[in-house]
This record gives sequence, C-alpha cells and structure tokens, in this order.
Amino acid sequence: MSETFTPINEVGEFGLIDRLQTIVADLSDPDLIMGIGDDAAVYRLPDEETVHVITTDALLEGVHFDRLMTPMEHLGYKAIAVNVSDVVAMNAEPRYATIAVGIPAKISVEMMEAFYRGVRRACEKYGLVLVGGDTTAAHTLCISVTVVGEARMEDVIFRRGARPGDLLCVSGDLGAAYAGLKILLEQRRALKEKGADYQPDLEPYRYVIQRQLLPEARLDVIRDWRDRGVRPRALIDVSDGLASEVHHLCRHSNCGAIVYASAIPVALETREVADHFAEDVDTYALFGGEDYELLFALPPEQLELLDPTSFNVIGEFLPADQGVQVQTPEGAIIPLEPAGYQHFRSGDGTEGEASADS
Ligand code: ADP
Ligand code: MG
Repeated sequence: MSETFTPINEVGEFGLIDRLQTIVADLSDPDLIMGIGDDAAVYRLPDEETVHVITTDALLEGVHFDRLMTPMEHLGYKAIAVNVSDVVAMNAEPRYATIAVGIPAKISVEMMEAFYRGVRRACEKYGLVLVGGDTTAAHTLCISVTVVGEARMEDVIFRRGARPGDLLCVSGDLGAAYAGLKILLEQRRALKEKGADYQPDLEPYRYVIQRQLLPEARLDVIRDWRDRGVRPRALIDVSDGLASEVHHLCRHSNCGAIVYASAIPVALETREVADHFAEDVDTYALFGGEDYELLFALPPEQLELLDPTSFNVIGEFLPADQGVQVQTPEGAIIPLEPAGYQHFRSGDGTEGEASADS
C-alpha cells in the first residue's frame, strides 16, 4: 500500500485519469487505434476496413441528477443519449448498449420499468439494441452505460487533426442545459421552502429544462455530413462546456484557437434565464456543460457543403503558440481558461447539489 494520501481534488478529474492511465498504458494491442483519451476508444476488426468504437459514461444520483427533479423515463433516455453522443463524436454509428444499474431500496419495480421505457425510446431513436447489463443493490441510484458503435476506418474523426486556419464550428445552441439546471435547482429550493403545495409555472422554461433532462445526441448531424460529403478534421461533443472542449481539441491537435463570444449561438430562452438570475449569458455558453452539441474543426473549403442553418462558425484554429483565446463581446481578446465542469472540485455536486457533466 502506498503511504502517501493525495486527495483526488488536488489532481482533479483529468489529472486522476492521467495518473491511472500510466499504470495501464503499455497494455496495448496491434488492433487498437485509439485507447484512453478521446470521446470513445477505437479498435480494428479483422476485415480491416471497419472499426468499432466503445465508450462508457455513468450517471449517479446526487452527482449527475436529483431524483426529485428527474422523471425516471427521462433518466433512461439520457443515460443512452449521453453515451451515443460520445460515439457520434467519433463520427460513428451506435449499434449495441449494455447497462449496469445499482438500485437503492426507495426505487420500485415500476420506477425501473419507467426508466427502461426511456432506455427503449432512446434505443429506438438512435437505432441501437440493448444487449445486456448488470443489476445490483446500492445506496443511491447508479447507472453506467456502455455503447459500442461502428464506422469505416477512413470516416473516424478524432480530437486530434485540427490545423491552424480551420474554422471552429458548433452545431445547435449552447448554454441551454446549464440554464435548465439553474431553473431546476431554483425550483427544488422553492419546493423545499414552500412545501408540496407549491405549483411552479415551468412553461416559460420548457426548452431549457428539456435540454437538461432530455438531451439529444447529434446523430442527425453526422448523418447529414455523410450525405453531403463533409468531413471535419477534428471532432468532440460538448459535455463539460465549450471552453473545456476547445482546450481538448487544441491540446490533441497541437493548435491554438480563438473563440468569438458574440458568435456563439444561444437560444432566446437561455438568455431569459440568465436575465432572470442577473447573470452573464456568455458564461453559460462558454462554461455550461451537457449540451451534447458537436464542436468541430472544418477546413474552410468545406463550408459551402454544409447546410448553413445546421451550425455556426464560432472561431478559428491558430498556431499552438497563440494559445486558446476568447474575444469578448466588447472586443477584448483574453485567454480562455479551460474551466468547465470537472468532478472532484469543491462544489462539484458530490456534497448534494445536482450538477452537470457527462
Ligand atoms: P467524455 O467527456 O468524452 O466522456 P472523459 O473526459 O469522461 O470523456 O474521459 C476522457 C478519456 O478518459 C476517455 O477516453 C475515457 O474513456 C477515459 N477515462 C475516463 N475515466 C477513466 C478511467 N477511470 N479509466 C480509464 N479511462 C478513463
Ligand atoms: Mg465526449
């Protein structure tokens, strides 16, 4: 046993993964194309043209969701969708899923059935089959999903591959899932203070709450790319927040980048939530997680191939020595910190607040 006790929050989520990775790094194999470090691992099949991608993401009660605010059916859907998102982020099609559930005594058979109806709906939506899993008792509801997907080797897109001059693009809009989380947390507080008679009017917040509770993987986007012959050079899904994901793309691609804050697409409903809390909506868009949109490096000559309504250009890749910068709406250019959601920070939700992450 090691005698040193390093608290995990000293190294953080990514620091811990790095330390653990060094222990298993030499366990490689000639068929392995990408191990730890991208949205999903990639390995070759015997026919050499097809590859499989595989990814695991967990959703834990009290960390990723609060059962008071999360319908079981939505939770089942989300558990599949967030894993499909990592498969999509390799430009691959999801095929099979397994699911492990740790179930506390307060959860009934009927509640688990509702959860599985959500799982089923997501499987139907994304065209994958649930093929197994594991079931155990637990103190809180724990869900871990693994999804296997498939692609042709030449179609796989990694986090590496962006080049200076490529356009930094994003699908959909950002910050909405975080806005939804803020509203849900506010409602939870109101419910606790005012008791069960409290009748919230959530109608104005329907969009942002849906983005938080029922996120969609953007399988439609990568299918559209295939139809149009579009092939970004680098790709990641936005699970931890835009700033964090831009840093991942830049580090893996050995590039810098500039993000134009005023170009980031933000829904009107998200702006209204930021106004409601008297907060800056750019912070939601840059640092809020769980939108599961796709962030990609597009060679400028492919711009005309894309459906202009399906994405926004929000910046540009630069040489590595330029670092990662953001141009504020006022025009100042400042370093963009890689902040986003990370586990093991203080206030990361493990003390009881639900919070955002994949
Ligand atoms: P994402 O947000 O796309 O799910 P993560 O930030 O969770 O990615 O993980 C980054 C990389 O680290 C991925 O390749 C993931 O498979 C790997 N990883 C995360 N946790 C572990 C772990 N405990 N052991 C091995 N690999 C891990
Ligand atoms: Mg990812």
